[in-house]
Amino acid sequence: MANILIDKVGKHFGNFHALKEVSLEIKDQEFMVLLGPSGCGKTTLLRAIAGLGMADSGRILLDGKDITYLPPRMRGMSMVFQSYAIFPHMTVFDNIAFGLKMRGLEPKQIKKQVGKAAELLHIEAMLERYPHKMSGGQRQRVAVARAIAMQAEVLLMDEPLSNLDALLRLEMRAELKRLLSDIKVTTIYVTHDQIEALSMGDRIAVMKDGIIQQVDVPGKVYDLPQNRFVGSFIGNPPMNFLKATILTQGGQLWATIADFSFEIEAKIQEALKTYVNQEVILGIRAENMEVLAAPDPKALGLRVQVLEPLGSQNLLTVSIGQDKLKVSTHPDFPAKTDELVWLRFPSDKIRWIDPQSGQSLRA
Ligand code: ATP
Repeated sequence: MANILIDKVGKHFGNFHALKEVSLEIKDQEFMVLLGPSGCGKTTLLRAIAGLGMADSGRILLDGKDITYLPPRMRGMSMVFQSYAIFPHMTVFDNIAFGLKMRGLEPKQIKKQVGKAAELLHIEAMLERYPHKMSGGQRQRVAVARAIAMQAEVLLMDEPLSNLDALLRLEMRAELKRLLSDIKVTTIYVTHDQIEALSMGDRIAVMKDGIIQQVDVPGKVYDLPQNRFVGSFIGNPPMNFLKATILTQGGQLWATIADFSFEIEAKIQEALKTYVNQEVILGIRAENMEVLAAPDPKALGLRVQVLEPLGSQNLLTVSIGQDKLKVSTHPDFPAKTDELVWLRFPSDKIRWIDPQSGQSLRA
């Protein structure tokens, strides 16, 4: 069992407030991703969990036991660092065995645990090699094998794939995901790469400025962002945001974008009532608009500024006043630069956002 509860953890560096009352629960054997832009506090939070940089307020509980100020070696956690931190003067075997030797395990047991970890990472044929004779990808495997060999119940990983080239990252991403689900360990994984987070995590905690913005399963974080930041940080391209004015007509609420109006779906009308005659932000993802090649009374006609063929889709940039909109189409869709396309906004795909707070409005 390894259930972690982070309860209102705060951390300052001098006057800088790096973590602001962060609370998060990570369930036993869960793969939790901490995702956010550079400097948002992901590593600071991971280090507080590991005991490498103590929190200055709040508590961290492991299976109900307060470990906030416990020394790292007594927490039963192992960690993979972004830099790998493997020892150049030691063979792969000795690198993987390092923590086990420190723990005073019998040589026979060390050999067994090193062998098993090396086998899982497919580096069993390299145990006598030195790190300088290995590729970046192989060194990364050594770092993961060393962490796994400890057979700790909690594995902490800080951007473990960020030093690999794009192709190797893709390969290791899938391999790590399979490996970690096989060994059934509670994992906290730090990354600033939203694709890595979406593809690997059971849940994602999205951070900004030392605050957790949303904790959810990948599909929800992508589809129902808690606020404008989450919608813009996750997804490539990011979610589109347009200014829309809310009006009433015949007892119903309507939204107007430029000179195009459409009726707002019934279930969200209550939440939008207070915005009548005011602007709100309409969020919609590039792939969620219907794109038509001919005029339609229920569609907004916009001129294509840029057309980017991306193989499996074409990405169009269209503009509405000051707002730019990214729209994805099938590669066969007959769009041309400087010509019009017509867009429909399916009501179940629209996300409404308060323009002041940036928070999503929910039914
Ligand atoms: P990255 O993806 O770039 O590693 P991060 O989200 O992991 O970013 P942290 O390393 O947690 O960010 O840092 C959060 C903030 O705290 C940053 O602004 C950083 O400059 C600051 N910080 C981190 N460690 C220290 C330190 N030892 N002393 C002073 N400031 C620090």
